[in-house]
Amino acid sequence: MVIIGAGAAGLMCAITAAERGRRVRVLDHANKAGKKILMSGGGRCNFTNMYTEPANFLSRNPHFCKSALARYTQWDFIGLVAKHQVPYHEKKLGQLFCDNKSSDILNMLLSECDSAGVEILLETSISEIARNDGGYQLQTSAGPMHCQSLVIASGGLSIPTLGATGFGYQVARQFGHEVLPTRAGLVPFTITDQLKELCTELSGTSVDCRVSCNGQVFRENLLFTHRGLSGPAMLQISSYWQPGDTLEIDLLPDHDAGEWLAQQQRERPNSELKTLLAELFTKKLAGLLADLWFVSKPMKQYTPGELAAIATQLSCWRLTPSGTEGYRTAEVTLGGVSTDEVSSKTLESQRSPGLYFIGEVLDVTGHLGGFNFQWAWASGYAAGQYA
Ligand code: FAD
Repeated sequence: MVIIGAGAAGLMCAITAAERGRRVRVLDHANKAGKKILMSGGGRCNFTNMYTEPANFLSRNPHFCKSALARYTQWDFIGLVAKHQVPYHEKKLGQLFCDNKSSDILNMLLSECDSAGVEILLETSISEIARNDGGYQLQTSAGPMHCQSLVIASGGLSIPTLGATGFGYQVARQFGHEVLPTRAGLVPFTITDQLKELCTELSGTSVDCRVSCNGQVFRENLLFTHRGLSGPAMLQISSYWQPGDTLEIDLLPDHDAGEWLAQQQRERPNSELKTLLAELFTKKLAGLLADLWFVSKPMKQYTPGELAAIATQLSCWRLTPSGTEGYRTAEVTLGGVSTDEVSSKTLESQRSPGLYFIGEVLDVTGHLGGFNFQWAWASGYAAGQYA
């Protein structure tokens, strides 16, 4: 069995298959296995999420991920982490992170590979794949290879400097699979209009918000950057955003803005609105929002109409990003190999027996919060059981 891609999905698949007694070789063109694991979660790898559910994934077929996720759950991976005594903690919202470093997860996987007898060939490129009677014939920089089962675990297009390529899509097309259009997901937005200056000035400031777009809503932090908007709220909604779409941001997610303003007017009539907002946001953010949207004055001087307009701005800030930072900084790639002709149970191609697609190369993309790794583990395990 040959697995192309020594990332999260490929390594999990290799371990599972080798434990079943398969002879497994993993090929990767990078000089190191699992580079994205090392980079992930800000160096602490958000390796799964306790609340993983199919609803946390985007795909043209939202049912596809169910089978694999049910057969290798977050609790299975947590069990593996516990067996290796990797210290971890819940950061928030069920997101599990290493206490120490992401390398704890990579070393755990590599040690499992080692015990199961998996062979990993790094700095190996694949120039040709052909199907023959007994399986697949590969031309590689390490020489020709033959395998019964070929697993494509080469990931998506995000972060080319970490070794990402469109290789898996090419293989899928070669064997007659549909490849859905891809785009960057979990990615910061860029702002180039008049709000750019505001973002630059506020760069580094974060604020709790509720953001919505195309029927999806996320309650998380928004982070202003010198290029635009980032932070978990923006990364999450970016997976649902299409060029030209407008985001609606509620900067007072814990309050009814109209009621809050009316209450302030009643209880603190002599305080300036800017000062009151500075108690909720930073002073700088309150000041810049005031410059943008209203004249700051003592609360008692606002008319009901003015307060209603300010409430709308605060609770429904409509802004249209000019774009995203793209694959250069995206955590994931949306779209990819269509799940239509791939078995959801075994991850095997229904067009070419013995060929498997797992992990991010498929049209299955998780929300932010450990879901993408859980898909990599679950799909890798499913293919590893059958390939
Ligand atoms: P990858 O991990 O991308 O592995 C693919 C492998 O294939 C790579 O080793 C690559 O070198 C190799 N490859 C590619 N092309 C070729 C080729 N032509 N020939 C040979 N080998 C090839 N998800 C989470 O759940 N939690 C997180 O904390 C998290 N943090 C992230 C942080 C960053 C900065 C990024 C970029 C992503 C993060 N993700 C996170 C997403 C997660 O890393 C991916 O969804 C996951 O790694 C996908 O696993 P994979 O095995 O399918 O692909």
